[in-house]
Amino acid sequence: MTSIFQAMEQGDYEHLFFCQEQSTGLKAIIAIHDTTLGPAAGGIRMKPYATEEEAIRDALRLAQAMTYKCAAAGANLGGGKCVVIGDPQRDKSEALLRVLGRFIRRLNGLFITGMDVGTTLEDMDILRQECPYVTIYSEALGGPGDTAAATALGVVSGMRACLKAVYGDERFQGRHVAVQGVGAVGSHVVELLVQAGALVTIADVDEERVRSVATHEQVTVVAPGEIATLPVDIYCPCALGGVLNQTSIPTLRCAIVCGSANNQLQEEQDGELLEQRGILYAPDYIVNAGGVIVGADSLLPGGYKQQRAEAAVRRLYQAVEQVISLAKEQHVSTNRAAALLARKRIEMMKQVRSVANGADAFTR
Ligand code: NAD
Repeated sequence: MTSIFQAMEQGDYEHLFFCQEQSTGLKAIIAIHDTTLGPAAGGIRMKPYATEEEAIRDALRLAQAMTYKCAAAGANLGGGKCVVIGDPQRDKSEALLRVLGRFIRRLNGLFITGMDVGTTLEDMDILRQECPYVTIYSEALGGPGDTAAATALGVVSGMRACLKAVYGDERFQGRHVAVQGVGAVGSHVVELLVQAGALVTIADVDEERVRSVATHEQVTVVAPGEIATLPVDIYCPCALGGVLNQTSIPTLRCAIVCGSANNQLQEEQDGELLEQRGILYAPDYIVNAGGVIVGADSLLPGGYKQQRAEAAVRRLYQAVEQVISLAKEQHVSTNRAAALLARKRIEMMKQVRSVANGADAFTR
């Protein structure tokens, strides 16, 4: 690997913190990419990384992705990530989580966090006892609870912006949506869509999940292999990454792709392939930002307020609208426009801060 400082310079990272505690075996790395827009937000990922280098790289990569996600989604948050080296089944303990919470508290709000791969809402409740900067925690403790419903609300808000752009009407009545994966997020998406009057078709490799959703909601069920190629208004991937690629894109028969799955584009240039096919792609990392947005609400005056948080998630509509108009203006795909928008917001805020700093210097 290039040296750590070289890697930080290349990616323009602010900080990299290493935390260790012997009695609990804690080995954690917290990467802070950019805090121009606000505190660095990012989950805690626990994985048995093969090497320390792999863990550092993951922390850096994921922190940078969070900067772009928050900035493009219109959130006043920066990007960070915490990775814990260890097997969550074997190495996680209450003591380890509490020690980690104390380390995060020391950062004094520079980093705010919630769960990610290898950590759970219950883990966050333990961390929260040591650290107020854990923003995703149980409803019973006054927090937002599981974020799947907020993520789904963000996805459906993004869909509305796409419908408006494509059909001039954001309403779901008579629109057909194919939802791939009806797990935590997908099942909430289905509920919201059915309530809004959409025709919904679902598929999942887990038959039990399909049965459970089909029992409660008015939906059509198809086999997992058919869902992505149905002739629909919206294809909504809520299962796996990499579903938009050179092989799948030519087979799509939708007008819009908008779903929660992370990393839907296998390659950046797949965004151009979608554009060439006349399919509007709502960048995944914007429309699935609902969880991060509700988390940040916990830090506002009075603590977490569901209505206020949901209103902020609904504003993802405007974020998607902005991306679509920037893509048109710059003649680029929506995924490239999302990155441009993120950089523009960060630059704008740096500019604003420099003006304020100047004023402070003058008055001093
Ligand atoms: P989940 O595991 O609860 O649900 C995923 C569902 O997809 C499962 O029911 C699974 O059986 C199904 N599935 C897997 N392979 C499939 C296939 N080939 N065809 C059809 N269905 C398939 O996960 P989730 O929390 O609902 O998250 C869904 C996606 O959204 C993931 O990519 C996740 O990273 C992303 N995401 C989730 C959140 C959140 O708040 N949970 C936030 C941001 C992004």
